[in-house]
Amino acid sequence: MPMRLHVIPFWLPWLFPKRMWSGRQYSSSGRKRIYLTFDDGPIPEITPWVLQQLGQHQAQATFFCIGENTQRHPEVFQQISEQGHAIGNHTHTHVSDARVPQKAYRKSVTDFAQHTGLKPDLFRPPYGRLKSNNARWLNRMGYRIVMWNFLSYDWDSGVSKEESLAKIIGQIKPGSIIVFHDSLKAESKMKWMLPRVLDYARANGYDCTALE
Ligand SMILES: [Zn+2]
Repeated sequence: MPMRLHVIPFWLPWLFPKRMWSGRQYSSSGRKRIYLTFDDGPIPEITPWVLQQLGQHQAQATFFCIGENTQRHPEVFQQISEQGHAIGNHTHTHVSDARVPQKAYRKSVTDFAQHTGLKPDLFRPPYGRLKSNNARWLNRMGYRIVMWNFLSYDWDSGVSKEESLAKIIGQIKPGSIIVFHDSLKAESKMKWMLPRVLDYARANGYDCTALE
């Protein structure tokens, strides 16, 4: 069975200190904060449902969009920003830095900005793969590279939704960045987990905040 690390190992942020592994822990008024993030959308089948859930809980989140999806579904993309959530660059075509030449990788980053007309300063590498020379290039381009504390494994049918939820809830702390996906692959587990995480956050005094 493959090993699944819901929680990142403690030494990872030490190895990659320029990447963001957690957010600000408290608001200026001292409220505890966590950061929900949604990768790989926007798509009409899932993203509007996520937006509705967030709205019902007065929660804000960050959407790491695929540029191609924003082109295919501009109306859904628009809803995300209209509702005050943050947008991040997740490349134009969801390329893995382990699989394409440097030039193609960087083009997919800049294509996102060109096609969306936005140059958000948040970037998350697809599959979490990022070579150090591209990381330095992204920093030079003004991007902050956002990683995470928790993977929900919402896309992975090999781990139960109950187990994933228990791991998230058991380890949430102020500043946590949690990864979900607004994708078809993640749909069934994510739709089960998200309302429960939102309820937990509210009941335990956490504000769900967009990354800033
Ligand atoms: Zn992705």
